[in-house]
Amino acid sequence: MQEVTYLDAAASTPLAPEARAAMLVALDEPPGNPGAAHESGRRARRHLDVARDQIADLMAVGTRSVLFTSGATEANNLALRGVFAVAGERRRVIATATEHRSVLATIEHLAELGADVQVLPVDGSGRPILAALRELLAEPTAVVSVHAANNETGVTPDLAAICELTRAAGAWLHSDASQLMAWGDAEPVSTCDLVTVSSHKMYGPQGAAALIASRDVRAHLQPTSFGGGQEQGLRSGTPNIAALAGFGAAAELARMSGAEAAPAVRALRDKLFHGLQGAGLTLTQHAAEVSRLPNILSIGLPSGLDGEVVLAQTPTVAASTGSACHAGTPEPSPVLRAMGLNEQAASGVLRFSLSRYSTEAEVERATAALAATLRRLATTLGGDHQDQDLQKASLSA
Ligand code: PMP
Repeated sequence: MQEVTYLDAAASTPLAPEARAAMLVALDEPPGNPGAAHESGRRARRHLDVARDQIADLMAVGTRSVLFTSGATEANNLALRGVFAVAGERRRVIATATEHRSVLATIEHLAELGADVQVLPVDGSGRPILAALRELLAEPTAVVSVHAANNETGVTPDLAAICELTRAAGAWLHSDASQLMAWGDAEPVSTCDLVTVSSHKMYGPQGAAALIASRDVRAHLQPTSFGGGQEQGLRSGTPNIAALAGFGAAAELARMSGAEAAPAVRALRDKLFHGLQGAGLTLTQHAAEVSRLPNILSIGLPSGLDGEVVLAQTPTVAASTGSACHAGTPEPSPVLRAMGLNEQAASGVLRFSLSRYSTEAEVERATAALAATLRRLATTLGGDHQDQDLQKASLSA
C-alpha cells in the first residue's frame, strides 16, 4: 500500500502519544463507575478529576466550569439550546454564517421553537461584520455564537470586540473553540460565557469534549438530556473515562507546548502553498491576509478545476475540500459561499490542515503528488488553463 500523507487534522488530529498513554492507564483499571462509592468507583473518579483539572488549567477556569460531553456537537447543542430554554422575552439568537453545522443546525431547531434566528454575515476574508452584529443586537438577544477559529479557513475572529457588543446588549456569548485549543492559548475566549472545546481537534481521542460554562451561565443553563444528574445535572450519563483521560492529557500537552509548536507548523503550511504554486498554476489562498490558525490552508484552484477531482486523483494525500463534516453532501462549502465565493469557485477549493506532527518530508511528498495531479488536470482542461493565463478562482467572481 502506498504511504498516505495525512493533512486533515482539522477533521481529526492524530492521537498524541501522551493521550494514548493516559487512555491505556485508564483502560487497564478494574471496572468502575465514577459514581460508585467503592474503591473501583473512586479510581475511575480520580481519572475524571485529573482530566477535569487538566481542561480547567488549559482554559484558565475553575473545575466546576468544565462540563464534559461526548463531543463538540453535543457541547454546542447544550450551550445554545440550554441558554435559549431560559431566554424568556429574549427571542433573538445570532450565529455567524460560517459556523459548523452543529451550531447552524441547532439554531435552525431553535427557530422551530420560536427563536428569532439571525445569521451574522462575514466579509470576503471570513471575518464577522461587526456593524451587522451591532444592528442585529438592537433586538433583545438571548445568545450570540461566534467560533474562535473556523474549521475550513482557520480564520480567528476578533472575539474581544464581539464580546464587548454582546455584553452591552445583555446577551450571552458562546464560542466554539474546537479548532483553537490545540495551540494552547485560551486568551481569545477568556471573556466568553460558554466555550466548546473538543478532544479530537487537539490530539486527544474522538468522543470527548467539554462545554466551559461560567458560573453565571450555569445558574441558568437547562440540560438537554435527563438522567442520573452527572455534570451538575447538566449532562447526565456515565462518562467515557478512558476518552476523557486522553482528552485531559491532550489538554496538558496543548497548555505546555501548543503555542511553541505553532511557528514550525505555520512554516510548513506556507511551504506547502509555495510548493503547490510551483506547479505553474495560479492558486489563491483564502483568508491569507487576516488573523488565522497556523495549520489550515484553504486554496482556491483555477476555474474549471474541482477540489473533489484533485483529491480523488491524489490518493496518497488525505485532505479535504470543505469541512469533512460536509463530505458526502454535494453542495459547495457554505463557509466559502458565505465569504462571497460563487458556486464554481467554492467547488474549486482544497483544504489542507497540518498537525504538530507534520514533517517537512511529508509536505514535500504531498506537494509532489498534488502538483503532478494539478499539472495533469490543467493540461486536460486545455492550454488556456496553464501558467499566466489561468483564471483565478476569485472571491465573489
Ligand atoms: N465544531 C467545529 C469547529 C468542528 O470543526 C467540528 C468537527 N468538524 C465540530 C464542531 C463537531 O465535532 P464533533 O463531530 O466531534 O462533535
